[in-house]
Amino acid sequence: MAKYEGKCPRCGKTHYSDRKDDAIICDCWQYCPLCSVEMAPYTPDLAANTYGVDGKRDFAVLMVCVQHSPPFYSTQKPVEVVCNETFA
Ligand SMILES: [Zn+2]
Ligand SMILES: [Zn+2]
Repeated sequence: MAKYEGKCPRCGKTHYSDRKDDAIICDCWQYCPLCSVEMAPYTPDLAANTYGVDGKRDFAVLMVCVQHSPPFYSTQKPVEVVCNETFA
């Protein structure tokens, strides 16, 4: 049984662990904040035609959602949630 919980500061999802201070990577950084679809890992080739248009630095982009026009570029890093709160 899980004894500790931690809340993701980005999406509000609660993660559980039976070990105190256990760090869990929330998967919300992989999902598009606009349409909730799982995004693709960003590669410079994929977006070569729009490169530089939105002014974002290439290295900061981690994921891309191609459902949009122009595609949505996510610079969100994986969110580490520490489970250190007890709950009843
Ligand atoms: Zn999250
Ligand atoms: Zn999207």
